[in-house]
Amino acid sequence: AVEAKGKKDQGSFEVGLEGAIKGQVVTRFPPEPSGYLHIGHAKAALLNQYFARHYEGRLIIRFDDTNPSKEKAEFEESIIEDLRLIGVHGDQVTHTSDYFDKLYEDAITLIRQGLAYVDDTDQATMRTQRMDGIASARRDRSIEENERLFTQEMAKGTEEGIRSCLRAKMSVDDPNKALRDPVIFRVNLTPHHRTGTTWKVYPTYDFACPLVDAHEGVTHALRTNEYRDRNPQYKWFLKHCKVRTVHIWDFSRINFVYTLLSKRKLTWFVEKGLGGGWDDPRFPTVRGIRRRGMSIEALNQYILMQGASQNSLHLEWDKLWALNKRILDPVAPRHVAITEEGQVPLRLTSGAGLEELGSIGSGGLVREMAKHKKNPEVGMKRTHFSPRVFLDQADAQISQEGEEVTLMDWGNVIIQKILRDVEGKVTGLEGQLHLEGDFKKTKRKLTWLSSEEEAGISATLLDYDYLISKKKLEEDDQVEDHVTAVSEFRTPVVVDANVQDYPVGQVVQLERRGYYIVDKSPKKDGSGSLELILIPDGKASG
Ligand code: ATP
Ligand code: MG
Ligand code: MG
Repeated sequence: AVEAKGKKDQGSFEVGLEGAIKGQVVTRFPPEPSGYLHIGHAKAALLNQYFARHYEGRLIIRFDDTNPSKEKAEFEESIIEDLRLIGVHGDQVTHTSDYFDKLYEDAITLIRQGLAYVDDTDQATMRTQRMDGIASARRDRSIEENERLFTQEMAKGTEEGIRSCLRAKMSVDDPNKALRDPVIFRVNLTPHHRTGTTWKVYPTYDFACPLVDAHEGVTHALRTNEYRDRNPQYKWFLKHCKVRTVHIWDFSRINFVYTLLSKRKLTWFVEKGLGGGWDDPRFPTVRGIRRRGMSIEALNQYILMQGASQNSLHLEWDKLWALNKRILDPVAPRHVAITEEGQVPLRLTSGAGLEELGSIGSGGLVREMAKHKKNPEVGMKRTHFSPRVFLDQADAQISQEGEEVTLMDWGNVIIQKILRDVEGKVTGLEGQLHLEGDFKKTKRKLTWLSSEEEAGISATLLDYDYLISKKKLEEDDQVEDHVTAVSEFRTPVVVDANVQDYPVGQVVQLERRGYYIVDKSPKKDGSGSLELILIPDGKASG
C-alpha cells in the first residue's frame, strides 16, 4: 500500500499512508524512557512528525513506560529536550501508564472470552514450548479460574501471582512464532516512576502498544519492520478487545557502520566511564552528534531522504556528514589556526607596504575583514597584519628560498631565507613582502597568523575515531572486545583571537583544516579554555 519515491533535493518524499484523511491523521512516537535519544529514534520521530504535518493531523509523544525496572523520569526530560532540539514538537505528551486501568480491563475482556490464560510455567520451559509448538499445561484453565488468578493473585502480587504471567490464547504452533500465545501481562513489584505502587501487574509492550494506539485515537502506527512478524498479533489484540482499528505502516530501522544503536549497549559505555557520557561526541545520540556539529537541517533532510526505504542496511556516516557540510559551508565564518608545536615565524624584512605594519610588538595593522568571502551576512572580523607571522611547520618544511607564495587574504611574499636546526626542522623564515605579485601565479596559498599577542589565542582541536573498531557488530559479539583503544585526539593550536568570542555550538571553518564546532569557550574573565571539535565532512571514511 506504500509507494515511495525519493525526492532527494527537497528532503521530502512522496508517500501515501493508507486510508489517510487530511485533518484526521494521528501518529505517535513511542520512546521508552530508558536512555537518551539516538539517531534511530530521531528517524522514527521525524517520520511520525512528517506524516502528522503532511496530513494536517496530530503527533502524540507517548512514553512507553511499561517496565518500571528500566525507566526513569530523568530520561523523559532528556527525551523531550532532545526532540525539541531536532525540531520535533508533539501536539500532546502521553504515557502508556495513563492507560493502565484500561489495559487491565482489556485483559479481562480477553479472559472472559476464553482468549487469555494465567500461566505459571517457568520461563525456560515456556521458551522451549513456544519454540517447539507445545501447549502449556495451563492452557485449558477455565475462564473463572483465569479471572480469579489474574485479579486476585497476579494483580495483588501474591506469591502465586509473582510466578505467573497472563498469555493471550492465539496459537500453540503457528509458523509465525510471534503468535504462539504471547505474554501480555506480568507481575513486577518495583515501584513505577509515575504510578508508584498502585500496580503490581504491567502490560507487555506487545499488548500495550496496539491497545493504547486504539484508545488514543492513533490512526497510523509507524513501526520498524523488524516488528513485521508481530503485525498479525497487533491486529488480533485490536479485534478481540473490540477497539477501533489502526493502520500499520512499516519503515526500516536505521543502522550505521562502527556504531552502536542500542540503548542497552550505550548504557554500558556510560556506566563503564569509557566515553564522556550520553553527549559524548562519539555517541550516535542526538546530543552526541549535535555536539560533533551535526545540523538539525542536515539530519532532517537525511532522514526524509531515507524515508520510506525498507532495507535496513548499515549506512556509512559519510553521506550524512557530507550533507551537513553543504549546509555549514555557506554560513560558517572562516578563521585560521596554526599548530602550536613547530609553528614557524616568518619575518618580513623588506618590500613595499612593510612600514604600514609597524614594528614587532606594536600590535600590527588591524583591518576589518569579511568572515566569509562569499557571504557578507556572516559579518566582519579583526585581522592583524604584522611584520612577523606564524606559519605551520608543514608549510615551512617544503618552502624554498626564492619561492613566491601567497599569504591567504593578504598577498604574496618571496621567501628569501630558511633557517633550520640540526634535525632539519625549520626554525624561521625571512621574506620580502610582494603585494603587487599575482596570487594566481603562486602554487602555494598559506594560512598564517600574526605573531602579535592580540592576534591569537591558545586552543585545542579535538578529533575522534569511532568508539568501536568493528564495522558491524554481530549479536554475539561482546562490545568490550571491540572498543577502539584510542579514539580521542587533541592538537594544541594558536587560533585567530576572533574565535574566542563565539559561544559554544558555533561552527567555524578553520581554513585548510576543516569545519569545527566550539565545544568549550573561555569565560569573559579569560579563564577556561577554548576547545573545538572537528566536524567530519564526509570525505575521509574511517
Ligand atoms: P533501543 O534498542 O535503542 O532501545 P528501542 O526500539 O527499544 O531502541 P524505543 O525507545 O522503544 O527504543 O524506541 C522508540 C521508537 O524509536 C520505536 O518506535 C522504535 O521503533 C524507534 N527506533 C528505535 N531504534 C530505531 C532505529 N535504529 N531506526 C529507526 N527507528 C528506531
Ligand atoms: Mg522498544
Ligand atoms: Mg531496544
